Amino acid sequence: MDEGRPKRCVACGRGAYEGGGLGLHGHGLVERQQRGPPTADEAPRCEVVLCRRYRCKPCGAVMRVVPPSVRPRKHFSGEAIGFALALWTLCGLRADEVRRRTSDWTRLGDAARGWRSLARWARQLGARQLFGALPLGAVAQGPRALAARAAQALCAHAPLAWRGAPLEHQAFAGARHVS
Ligand SMILES: [Zn+2]
Repeated sequence: MDEGRPKRCVACGRGAYEGGGLGLHGHGLVERQQRGPPTADEAPRCEVVLCRRYRCKPCGAVMRVVPPSVRPRKHFSGEAIGFALALWTLCGLRADEVRRRTSDWTRLGDAARGWRSLARWARQLGARQLFGALPLGAVAQGPRALAARAAQALCAHAPLAWRGAPLEHQAFAGARHVS
């Protein structure tokens, strides 16, 4: 299984095949949890995804290759986050209703306060730590306006076949194509 092998080492920059012979070797699999609905129509759940690791022989660095849905340092898939942002801002759902559609976690604190993840994701959008490749332009102030802009931009990234679909489905599909 070579399709996931990085082209070069993230630490030393050496190409996988630079200098003859393979420099990046398979280094086992690690499990990672990922939350959110598997499709826009399904109930949210927690899945285990397998991530392949590679080790750079010259410098010893270990890197992990994750499936496209996995976001660094996020519990939720990128699709789930796009879906939630669209439900919240484009469909006008209340935060606790968005949480019910997106998260399998049932914690009393979150339920009582709506859903803090939405405001956190909005902050990360503003700091370019989430969907950093999205063109947000000159955005209106406030977390909700920022989240709305991002949700619209995610919809615009959905493949053509999704154009007639509900907005939260478009954002779900678009998120797969944005890093
Ligand atoms: Zn290296």
